[in-house]
Amino acid sequence: MSNKYEAIIGLEIHAELMTASKMFCAAPVVDSVEAEPNTAVHPLCLGMPGTLPVINKQAVEYALRVALALNCQINQHNIFARKNYFYPDLPKGYQISQYEEPIGVNGWLDVELDDGSHKRIGIRRVHMEEDTGKLTHQDDGTSLVDYNRAGVPLLEIVSEPDIHSGEEARAYAMKIRQILRYLGVNSGDMEKGVLRVEPNISIRPSGSTTFGTRTELKNLNSFKALADGSAHEIERQIQVVESGGRVVQETRGWNEDKKRTFSQRSKEEAEDYRYFPEPDLPPLFISEAWIAEAKAALPELPGAKIERYVNEYGLTAYEARVLTEERAVAEWLDTAVTAGGDPKSVSKWLLNELFRLMNEHKQSIEQIPVRPTGLVELIALVDKGTINNNTAKEVLAEMFGSGQSASAIVQAKGLAQISDEAAIETIIVQVLANNPEMVARYTSGEEKLRGWFVGQVMGQSQGKANPALVNQLLAQKLAELPGS
Ligand code: ADP
Ligand code: MG
Repeated sequence: MSNKYEAIIGLEIHAELMTASKMFCAAPVVDSVEAEPNTAVHPLCLGMPGTLPVINKQAVEYALRVALALNCQINQHNIFARKNYFYPDLPKGYQISQYEEPIGVNGWLDVELDDGSHKRIGIRRVHMEEDTGKLTHQDDGTSLVDYNRAGVPLLEIVSEPDIHSGEEARAYAMKIRQILRYLGVNSGDMEKGVLRVEPNISIRPSGSTTFGTRTELKNLNSFKALADGSAHEIERQIQVVESGGRVVQETRGWNEDKKRTFSQRSKEEAEDYRYFPEPDLPPLFISEAWIAEAKAALPELPGAKIERYVNEYGLTAYEARVLTEERAVAEWLDTAVTAGGDPKSVSKWLLNELFRLMNEHKQSIEQIPVRPTGLVELIALVDKGTINNNTAKEVLAEMFGSGQSASAIVQAKGLAQISDEAAIETIIVQVLANNPEMVARYTSGEEKLRGWFVGQVMGQSQGKANPALVNQLLAQKLAELPGS
């Protein structure tokens, strides 16, 4: 982007909540990809007349957690509103949402950018609503509708227009996803549509303080689409303005293949929806006690974890970031440390070996047979000198396969390190006796051959010799050679 213009982006994020039942009736929430269509429906979410909504308490609890985690002020007095519009996936003809008094307002989130800098992005509001059904458009021009998703609790998180590029939009959205997953309220599966991101985008001349007309990008199904689509929309708007045109307020789609955005429909204004307070629901009051309880129950969030890992565990910011990516990984590390593991060595083993093995076995940290205490035991065997580092890697791979403990494997396979000086000396003497030419080259000045001798000794011991001892004893023996 030329620096003649500044891009302004605000994000609307829709997140389905992982409750057992829907927002206003007892129909179950099911996997919208796997479940048979129209099997998780009740009269209310099908829009039958005469039904009455009841607020799902668990959904409110989840919404409260998210609003608190995003540093929002909580509105104790909540009002639900009817947002009226017609669409085949909306059987009631209106969506129950929150309008004037949403559960959370005026929050913020700190986001780390690629260059390592941090940026605070304002959260305008967090509100509760219900999802629509799902339409599948077929090639013959007809469409199928599945109401399983209709009425699933949905959270809308609206940012302030504090974002200035597609990359920043991506970083912010990824952070939101991470927090939702930490809170256990959303799986983050964008390809299943449970998390949907829509950027509002405008441009203005650099230095200007008024906002330009915005467009909204819909149906972005990945973070890459969010970053790329936003970047292209910014460029498009600049071209429109540069060629003397005006940006019109509209909803646009993103064509991944053609790498361009296209107009979908002109944007409706709030007044088009004829919002009014939902007459079938009383105001929802959230007590101080409930707020305090929810706040106390929040897990340690990624930002705080990163800080703790850097300050208390002595990890680099990068290591801390990787290890806090997933709550389960961070908790695995914390458990290992609580069990007596040294934070730095446990982290190193996680980053270098466990992640590689998890990848190889296609298992998540929850699925692997190695427990935090198991790794701590393995590290202790290395620290005590029972096995060396290389053997420890083999043992870990074995633990991954069989689920046996490190010491059981070391014993069964006779892997214990040879730290007996006499035994190592015997091997060294043998190696020197068997390789007279190498010895001759060494004594005539080829000192770099020392590494070769180390390798021979390690090989003879089947990798079990204590490398530090081998180095030390070999140095002595070589120094004793005539001529060296
Ligand atoms: P609507 O439902 O009309 O889209 P919302 O309040 O749900 O309104 O969302 C508006 C979003 O657009 C917010 O994220 C806000 O920060 C952002 N936004 C508002 N004005 C602009 C603008 N001129 N350019 C870019 N983003 C904007
Ligand atoms: Mg919008």
